[in-house]
Amino acid sequence: MTTRIAVTGAAGRMGKTLIEAVATAGGAVLTAAIERPESSLIGADAGEVSGIGKNSIAISDDINSVLDQFDVLIDFTAPAATVDNVAACQPVGRKLVIGTTGCSRQQLEAIEAAAGKTAICMAANYSVGVNLCFKLADMAARVLGDEADIEIYEAHHRHKVDAPSGTALRLGQVVASALGRDLDEVAVYGREGQTGARDRKTIGFATVRGGDIVGDHTVMYASEGERVEISHRASSRMSFARGAVRAAIWLDARDKGMFDMQDVLDLR
Ligand code: NAD
Repeated sequence: MTTRIAVTGAAGRMGKTLIEAVATAGGAVLTAAIERPESSLIGADAGEVSGIGKNSIAISDDINSVLDQFDVLIDFTAPAATVDNVAACQPVGRKLVIGTTGCSRQQLEAIEAAAGKTAICMAANYSVGVNLCFKLADMAARVLGDEADIEIYEAHHRHKVDAPSGTALRLGQVVASALGRDLDEVAVYGREGQTGARDRKTIGFATVRGGDIVGDHTVMYASEGERVEISHRASSRMSFARGAVRAAIWLDARDKGMFDMQDVLDLR
């Protein structure tokens, strides 16, 4: 079975990489590409925009006009756009692989509600290596957690609009839940001035933005006399794109429900 894939945000950094990843994946074919109506690239050839050469898929400005042309939508856009796309796909049973980060609690609830009627995979990070790090972070927290100060730091390119990254927040959630802590209560987002001594139960976050850094994440467990660090460095967006295409093919065999990359990789 070949999964018919639509990519929205087709002219974005991830959109272009996703179009290239679909073209080289077995078991999937690109059948639609979408951008926001204001884009100057509406009507352009999606393959040419992505840099892989002509593929005869014209970039559309309206998801509703291509709903019958795909099985799974891959959406790496922006929170409001993603919620609109979920609303368009859910009534007709189109499935979604969502990579967009920075969604509010309310937006996440809207996405989760739609998973009662269609299959949705949402992950803060689609790279296989990062998903392995989630597992390692959980393991390290269980072994070292109550004796270590845990800090998470991340670096991304200068264009990233949300902070900390969705992946850093997810790492924080993994660590907090392994230790029975509520991340909303124990998270410390940056420090300045007279902060006082560190409270052992807190989980600190630090953010760096600059240049073209694709995405670096480290979870540090610092205790008396030793320090453990779990680090991941992405060198190309292709790692996220390949994972998202793998998720789309996996999701195509599900009817409904909310999944993430841990499900796709069978890491639970
Ligand atoms: P980008 O700004 O380069 O691309 C976003 C694209 O979405 C733009 O081309 C924009 O025009 C388009 N867009 C916005 N609204 C739209 C709409 N209503 N319909 C169609 N297209 C629309 O950003 P990017 O670097 O590609 O990142 C996009 C998102 O993916 C961000 O939230 C980012 O954090 C996230 N991301 C997630 C992962 C992951 O593995 N989960 C990896 C990288 C980036």
